[in-house]
Amino acid sequence: MKKLFVISGSSGVGKGTVIKKFLENNPNFKLSVSCTTRQKRPGEEHGVNYFYLTRDEFMQAVNKGEFLEWAEFSGNCYGTSKKFVQQGLDNGEDILLEIDTQGALQVKEKMDNAILIFILPPSLEELERRLRGRGTETEDAIQKRLNTVKSEMENAKHFHYQVVNDEVDRAVSEIEKIIKNEQV
Ligand code: 5GP
Repeated sequence: MKKLFVISGSSGVGKGTVIKKFLENNPNFKLSVSCTTRQKRPGEEHGVNYFYLTRDEFMQAVNKGEFLEWAEFSGNCYGTSKKFVQQGLDNGEDILLEIDTQGALQVKEKMDNAILIFILPPSLEELERRLRGRGTETEDAIQKRLNTVKSEMENAKHFHYQVVNDEVDRAVSEIEKIIKNEQV
């Protein structure tokens, strides 16, 4: 059975950079396009980054059972379309989901063939340094984020693999090895 790979990790751990590099190295992998109720950011496109729905549209899809998983994150809803994932797997495609930890654990419960990878920061101190380095957040916001990260790290133990993002290329090659071993 084709496996479904799910990657999660808190924001600020460089998850986006790791996934971008992984996809550049592995163009056969298709990143699932999620639905969200959050506003489109500059440069984002409907159908490319996300499918942007109103809260009503999103809840209708929830009620119709169209999501494999969904979760509320930072005041917005995010969900993975069952159809998108199933069609991909049926077509023999390599599918990657980049979703939050709540969503990843829902996928683990529903799909026996899901492999969950959690991206960890090298340490909380390093993460704090990175968050401060951005220079965009207040002390209060930084503390809030660190607390979120700590509770999310608690979830890491429910994932099949944990990868420390100490260095992007190293983390990407570790993920590539995990996936290769799981695909045999
Ligand atoms: P952003 O708004 O920055 O694009 O994403 C915020 C968070 O939502 C990220 O942690 C991302 O992994 C997560 N996310 C994106 N799509 C989904 C989804 O379909 N389901 C869930 N559960 N989380 C998602």
